[in-house]
Amino acid sequence: MRKVSIFGATGSIGQNTIDLIARDPDAYDVVALTGGANIEQLARDARRLKADVAVTAYDTRLDDLRTALAGSGIAAASGQAALTEAAARPADWVMSAIVGAAGLAPGLAALKQGATLALANKETLVCAGPLVLETARAHGARLLPVDSEHSAVFQALVGEDPRAVERIIITASGGAFRDWPVSELANATVEQASSHPNWDMGQRITIDSASMFNKALELIETKEFFGIDPSRIEVLVHPESIVHALVGYCDGAVMAHLGAPDMRHAIGYALHWPDRRALPVNRLDLSQLGQLRFADPDPERYPALRLARAVMERGGLSGAIFNAAKERALDHFIARRIRFLDMADMVASVLDRFETDGSHIDAPLSLDNVQQTDHLARQWVDEAVVQRAG
Ligand code: NDP
Repeated sequence: MRKVSIFGATGSIGQNTIDLIARDPDAYDVVALTGGANIEQLARDARRLKADVAVTAYDTRLDDLRTALAGSGIAAASGQAALTEAAARPADWVMSAIVGAAGLAPGLAALKQGATLALANKETLVCAGPLVLETARAHGARLLPVDSEHSAVFQALVGEDPRAVERIIITASGGAFRDWPVSELANATVEQASSHPNWDMGQRITIDSASMFNKALELIETKEFFGIDPSRIEVLVHPESIVHALVGYCDGAVMAHLGAPDMRHAIGYALHWPDRRALPVNRLDLSQLGQLRFADPDPERYPALRLARAVMERGGLSGAIFNAAKERALDHFIARRIRFLDMADMVASVLDRFETDGSHIDAPLSLDNVQQTDHLARQWVDEAVVQRAG
């Protein structure tokens, strides 16, 4: 039996992972399941999958979790340290599907115990790519991509010589506001930004798709995961979300990965890798679809992409700053304290402030430095929001 743990088990990726694992219960021995506020779901899945331990991110919810697990023999724990401890429990395969920078510390702990880390949490590589890759190398651990674009690139690279790769193209649906007049974006509401044309995902990543901050994170993730120069990574708007990524080779050939928009493709590929197994997903019917459209992203509509390119050039802790400022600006947008376009403005001004206000950006890439910089970036976003309100 393979020992598996799922971090962020109660979320969209976590639930899709559980869906696949629960179809073959005799194949898996579930070590740890983690969640945040959704205690009922966490306890239900922990019982169903007979996990050893269930962890909530929030100490205030530990009593509820204990009550929900009473009599099951499943250990309950809470807090960020408990998440990291759970990741250090030996497992063969660990799904990293916590949302946000909170996924970094458990991900590093899982790599240190030599697990294969299935990486949905793109923030792990955005905040600390070189540190994460070095940790995996030092501990003989493996990283497998779960983001659909990165899984697609990974699959289009199978059997190829990486030196023959000329460019990587990741696609973007364009999000909720792809066809809106740019002049109306300033008035976009949280509800409007929370509906995705093709994918059924968590609220935060759905809003990040509308602003293309999600694609911005994925650009950085591509650079780190595949070790490719940023100038050779392209983004294409592809409204149908059928082609997830393309790899262009030196002979002019382009290998594309196609699939119905269902995250169980990429999760299943990472779960069964290096094998390919049957998955319960819809099959593509291209004649039914009729057409696949592609266009360059409009830089005015999606300023996040320009910011990501600057971050890729800058390196160091700028990825951690970019992500933290983005996460905090998103909190404020969801809380209706700022408007849709303010998010990119605030991230840009926090990045600028780090350039002029301190040496943090060039500090060595360690977990401590990432966490401190992350904290400061969030504080500076909060200050900017207060200033704006005043
Ligand atoms: P969701 O918001 O649906 O789920 C997030 C999970 O993380 C939940 O289990 C949540 O718990 C938990 N969580 C929230 N805050 C914390 C915290 N501070 N500490 C620990 N756990 C926490 O997110 P998604 O599943 O959509 O996304 C997860 C990750 O996967 C993200 O990095 C996203 O970018 C990436 N991803 C997602 C895709 C998708 O299709 N959804 C596609 C590709 C990548 P609870 O809900 O119980 O509060």
